[in-house]
Amino acid sequence: MAVHVVGNVCVDTTFRLERFPVPGETLNAAGHADGIGGKGANQAIATSRTGADVTLWAAIGDDAAGGWIADRLAAESLACRLTAKPLPTDRSAILVDAGGENIIVTGSLCAEAFDPLAETDIADRIAAGDILVMQGNLSPRATAACLDLARHRGARTILNPSPLPAAAGPALPQADIVIVNEGEAQALTRCEDPDQAAMELLRQGAGIVLVTLGPRGCLIAEGTTGSNRRLPAPVVTAVDTSGAGDIFCGIFAGGIDLGMTPVEAASLAIAAAAVAVGRSGTSESCPSKAEIRDLIRTLETEKP
Ligand code: AMP
Repeated sequence: MAVHVVGNVCVDTTFRLERFPVPGETLNAAGHADGIGGKGANQAIATSRTGADVTLWAAIGDDAAGGWIADRLAAESLACRLTAKPLPTDRSAILVDAGGENIIVTGSLCAEAFDPLAETDIADRIAAGDILVMQGNLSPRATAACLDLARHRGARTILNPSPLPAAAGPALPQADIVIVNEGEAQALTRCEDPDQAAMELLRQGAGIVLVTLGPRGCLIAEGTTGSNRRLPAPVVTAVDTSGAGDIFCGIFAGGIDLGMTPVEAASLAIAAAAVAVGRSGTSESCPSKAEIRDLIRTLETEKP
């Protein structure tokens, strides 16, 4: 079955700093590098590392940065359907401090203007049994419409409504699986406790809710079992946590595509995200196909 990741792609410029600047201050970075970013691209690249048949649907600008993105994505094992818009290609500036924490600013004109159903033939490509993965960068209307179409086709829908609040409102009821971090869970439900937040999201219509908990791993709530389960993360030294949530989502979708149970897919996602936080960059930090195969083997040997 195919996995369709519909979302954004951008140029990530990562600056490594000892500490974050305060307002009005200029700091020299210890280093900087450009990479492929955007939650859509990060998640599509991560899913492709599980061996899934993945297509990324996203918009780029009609400038040199858009061409650079298309060239870089051509080296990945995924199909790309990039819509060129008369706009500057989207960009993120990512500041990473010595502790691996990050601050991100994104310019997302292309993503906000991207209407996949009107501008691509995705409606003809989504089939029963496929998986559609979306995030919060496109307009809420476009996000909800795509999820709705996929559901009507018999595809499974995964929504990572981040950044908030763009995708949340109208799109949430269209998602079979919702993946949020702790802050997003709280903002969406007004529940401080992640377990209660997950139960509230189940009540709002999701079949499965995953709340990622940074170094504490994640919790998974399945409507069918009515119980929440915590899955711990391995202890690692964090170098750069940017992109960890995207790698988690992408690998989780790949695990579901491989036929894993949601708990197995989440365990694989946790293992892959732990590898990624030990490396610099967003999509660049994602484990390779060979590394994902090793992680799957290790998880299989650890099964009770
Ligand atoms: P977050 O978006 O911060 O909740 O992180 C997403 C996922 O990345 C978590 O569910 C963890 O599996 C993993 N992760 C993030 N930070 C760390 C860390 N410091 N150590 C290990 N895993 C982490």
